[in-house]
Amino acid sequence: MEPLQLYKKLFARFGPQLWWPVTEDGETRPTYKKRKKLTEQQKFEICVGAILTQNTDWKNVMKALQNLSKEEMLSCEKIANARQQTIAGLVKPSGYFNQKAKKLQAFCKYLKKNYSCSVNKLFAKPLPALGEELLLLHGIGQETADDMILYAAEKPSFVVDAYTMRFTERFFAQPKISYVEVKRFFESRLPKNVQLFNEFHALLVEHGKRSCKKNPNCRECFLGKECAFPKHLAF
Ligand code: SF4
Repeated sequence: MEPLQLYKKLFARFGPQLWWPVTEDGETRPTYKKRKKLTEQQKFEICVGAILTQNTDWKNVMKALQNLSKEEMLSCEKIANARQQTIAGLVKPSGYFNQKAKKLQAFCKYLKKNYSCSVNKLFAKPLPALGEELLLLHGIGQETADDMILYAAEKPSFVVDAYTMRFTERFFAQPKISYVEVKRFFESRLPKNVQLFNEFHALLVEHGKRSCKKNPNCRECFLGKECAFPKHLAF
């Protein structure tokens, strides 16, 4: 099955996922909602969330983001100028809080020094230069950079995470495929469309949570007939 056909099947099954959840002006809790346009503050929040979501569930990130919002610390200027301990305390629910505080400050200090704290100025860079620049920063790996590029900068860079890796290895029979290979696999077979990449990644996560888990529920999976993996299993 071609990736575009797979996308259509997933979308028909699960519907729009409305990623990436962000906070509306005057509120403190990120919400999933169809939005015509992101504000610069929301784009910055996505960058913060992309760092905080490393090695943890999104529900923990929500708590950390809410802490930052309630303390009026969800700002590049404030994070850059704060004591690391203060940021660590606020992002504690997301785990690895000392490391994440350091990463957030590295990002915000860089943004402040080079772009006057404006993510819009940073995101004015074209691809692939934007990705290359992000990858040079402390604590920003491939997945975090792609999260920022796709969901905040709204440029077509396919995001690969553990769910996507696992699914691709199984469904498309691509064992031991690397991050970059999975990314290339999808990008070379899909139209370069931000909304498509946005929704597709979110749908793969949804499917990964419901069926294609570490121990996959292949018997119940609606993609079982098309998937290469169950054929290796003894039913
Ligand atoms: S059939 Fe199994 S391995 Fe294939 S997508 Fe479904 S859950 Fe994953």
